[in-house]
Amino acid sequence: MPESFDVIVIGAGPGGYVAAIRAAQLGLKTACVEKRATLGGTCLNVGCIPSKALLQSSENFEETAHKFAEHGIVIEGSVKLDLARMQARKAEVVGANVKGVEFLFRKNKVTWLKGEGSIPRAGVVAVNGAEYAAKHIVIATGSESTPLNGVPVDEQRIVTSTGGLELSEVPKHMVVIGGGVIGLELGSVWRRLGAEVTVVEFLDGILPGMDGEIRKQFERILVKQGIKFRLKTKVTGATVGNDGVTLTVEPAAGGAAETLQADIVLLAIGRRPFVAGLGLEGAGVALDERGRVKVDAHYATNVPGIWAIGDAIAGPMLAHKAEEEGVAVAERIAGQAGHVNYEAIPGVVYTWPEVASVGRTEEQLKEAGIAYKAGKFPFTANGRARAMGDVDGFVKILADTKTDRILGAHIIGPDAGTLIAELALAIEFGASAEDVARTSHAHPSLNEAVKEAALAVAGRALHI
Ligand code: FAD
Ligand code: NAD
Repeated sequence: MPESFDVIVIGAGPGGYVAAIRAAQLGLKTACVEKRATLGGTCLNVGCIPSKALLQSSENFEETAHKFAEHGIVIEGSVKLDLARMQARKAEVVGANVKGVEFLFRKNKVTWLKGEGSIPRAGVVAVNGAEYAAKHIVIATGSESTPLNGVPVDEQRIVTSTGGLELSEVPKHMVVIGGGVIGLELGSVWRRLGAEVTVVEFLDGILPGMDGEIRKQFERILVKQGIKFRLKTKVTGATVGNDGVTLTVEPAAGGAAETLQADIVLLAIGRRPFVAGLGLEGAGVALDERGRVKVDAHYATNVPGIWAIGDAIAGPMLAHKAEEEGVAVAERIAGQAGHVNYEAIPGVVYTWPEVASVGRTEEQLKEAGIAYKAGKFPFTANGRARAMGDVDGFVKILADTKTDRILGAHIIGPDAGTLIAELALAIEFGASAEDVARTSHAHPSLNEAVKEAALAVAGRALHI
């Protein structure tokens, strides 16, 4: 008799490990299959956590080298980079986080089945030749970097984010293919540490899908910081030689080709769902036209007892989106009413300044024909931002013209990623701009810019 579980989750990323913990909390006998040597998935091992460790370290380096003088802090001699130590610290941060998930599995009595899982048929998961019975199977196998024809990744010279987080030397010239979240976060890390960075983007602007006004201001700020952009440009090939990589690029609309020389190329044109080796075809689980596992509104696939969440299904590829789905699917399996509100999922780019967004953009509201009012407040008029010396950016709140309900919020500025939480909560609670405007915000805080933007929706900002 194979060992049997109520729930077997395949993949221990933020979607899978959270689903497993929540299922165990609900009294279900739960196992989680993970093939990586450590738990935590892309996010903890090679994604969110190591990238934020390097973003923090590189920001500290840049501040020390360039910003301290303005505060009257004098460094005698030059500020030196110890990249080996910086990378070792990053590894320590990752190590502590992945061990934390192991602890949570033990605490909640989730069994870790080590190895690659597959689904030979509904109700059965195979791991390392052994079969386990499962009343419910949750696919949480995540995503992988999207390849580009003619640009062969070797993780040495031509790297994905995984190799881009591991460099042991600061490149002289890094060319980033793709002006999205990964390109701009990792491009910022290596620029701060001394690299010349050129971003090649196919479209006419960076961060497609984000609020248009924010995208434009962000691009201007990054250019001021020294990042070079080649917009409306496509990469048609890459050759690795002794001195680095030669990239062939041409205008996106077609035209004369030219070459770019780089010592490191970072390929960051998006991620695609990863379901290879699961045996989904045999199990009869349907995929959509983009290779994502097809699910209904409650994460059920077309095969009864098989569910899917996270990067492997449609929606933004974000860790907290995967986590919310992990909780919701476990609650559904336990007969409860788990649900995710996709209107209230924030997105943050952890550069400096940060860029953060929740709900609809102006472009989306216009396209949907929804009448809205916009309230905006710049950080130049915020006392705390002035004290910090970080005045680039603004808060923008979009509210329904008739009901004043907040429909979207977009921030570029210091700690935007933290500030956006208040507006995600406001959207989740169905708050109006007036609700936020009437709430007392501590002075002097960056949050006051949120209050002022809410006041501005009604044309009554106080400090501008
Ligand atoms: P994953 O985290 O990809 O986990 C899937 C796991 O399944 C993996 O561990 C894999 O080994 C395992 N697996 C796959 N197939 C099998 C199998 N057959 N058997 C056993 N195990 C299997 N998101 C944010 O919200 N904030 C950020 O700051 C952020 N930064 C990022 C930075 C980078 C560089 C990258 C690459 C991504 C970042 N993301 C960020 C995105 C985030 O990492 C993903 O959205 C998130 O990890 C998705 O979670 P998941 O559980 O769906 O899948
Ligand atoms: P992305 O979708 O954010 O950006 C990809 C960019 O590449 C786009 O601007 C796109 O127009 C461009 N592009 C596509 N094909 C191209 C081509 N052939 N040539 C030039 N440019 C091209 O993807 P990403 O930056 O690779 O990130 C992948 C995922 O990881 C994202 O979905 C994101 O949600 C997630 N992520 C999130 C965070 C965060 O939340 N802070 C950080 C990193 C990654």
